[in-house]
Amino acid sequence: MTDLLLLHLTPEEIELWAQGLCPAVRDAHLAQCAECRSTAERERKLIRELARLTRFAPEFGFAERVMAKVKIPTRSGPHLRPHTDA
Ligand SMILES: [Zn+2]
Repeated sequence: MTDLLLLHLTPEEIELWAQGLCPAVRDAHLAQCAECRSTAERERKLIRELARLTRFAPEFGFAERVMAKVKIPTRSGPHLRPHTDA
């Protein structure tokens, strides 16, 4: 029989794991394989970032709130135009 516990996860399985859909036997491999774990963590982080972006994208005023938080000094316009030295 194929020992699933010893096989590295495929990209598809890592994607499933990141979404919490990974079969328990693959989860057991992750628990003992640092290599797969770091790949999986990276994938999960990426998926979370994407989910966050998707959620925030349509929300009006998000950029303004972020700007207010980070307090980037906003100059009035010229940096928005590609050619300013006219
Ligand atoms: Zn592995």
